[in-house]
Amino acid sequence: MSRGRIAPTPTGYLHVGHARTFALAADRAASGTLVYRTEDLDAGRCRPEFAAAAIEDLCWLGLKWTEGPDVGGPHGPYVQSQRLTWFRDVWQRLQATGAIYPCDKSRKDVERSLTAPHAEDDAEPIFPAALRAPVGAGQDAREPGPTNWRFRVPDGETIAFVDALQGPQAFVAGRDFGDFLVWRKDGLPAYELAVVADDHAMGITEVVRGADLLLSTARQLLLYRALGWAAPSWAHAPLIVDAEGKRLAKRSAGLSIRELRQKGKTPEEVLMAPLRQLLG
Ligand code: GLU
Repeated sequence: MSRGRIAPTPTGYLHVGHARTFALAADRAASGTLVYRTEDLDAGRCRPEFAAAAIEDLCWLGLKWTEGPDVGGPHGPYVQSQRLTWFRDVWQRLQATGAIYPCDKSRKDVERSLTAPHAEDDAEPIFPAALRAPVGAGQDAREPGPTNWRFRVPDGETIAFVDALQGPQAFVAGRDFGDFLVWRKDGLPAYELAVVADDHAMGITEVVRGADLLLSTARQLLLYRALGWAAPSWAHAPLIVDAEGKRLAKRSAGLSIRELRQKGKTPEEVLMAPLRQLLG
């Protein structure tokens, strides 16, 4: 039985891009189960009122999920800030395999790690292999402690997968992406660890999300492998851009589901109409 998910981060109101990606996720999970998960690890930017608004807006659009923060279910809690014990457990599993190591790096780098690295912000410099800790570093640790932890990527290895919507993909470890953060020194898991931990725990069989996360998928595949878990299949939706070709996330004024609804647009229009019509 297929299990899909939608996993909004409540840092603001959802916009038409979210609406369309989530509707696609719901559609692809229509014959199975759709899980709703709130990804609110970034306490500085996430707000409970946005989490509540996201649920309300998606219900108004007509999306239906059978597991989630509002309806419960067998894999809860469905709110990441309530799942820290599980993330710690996954840190421990990774640490036991020697796949990760403690690392001190700039604050900016750490701040960025909590939320998914969408498109242009993913152009972060490749972590230089020369700065890696030696193999075996951190092997005695029982706790992550007040230190960042990174995943040691297999330099030169091509991570390939077939995306249901984007076709065959290939990224080279150490060239397209470097050692990435899995744990932050403030005691929280980084996005890549949290999302893999939860997609696995919630039995997700297909991940549907924006194409700006294709590179993250390569990182996540390495985590699945290190953990000995079967990876889900992937479907990355094309990004919705405005007339100037800018991603909606950066320019959502007038295009939040909320505003469109207040302007009298219907769910069908929010999901299907050309953007210029929605803005008009
Ligand atoms: N909460 C993440 C985001 O909003 C979801 C990323 C994902 O679907 O893996 O970007």
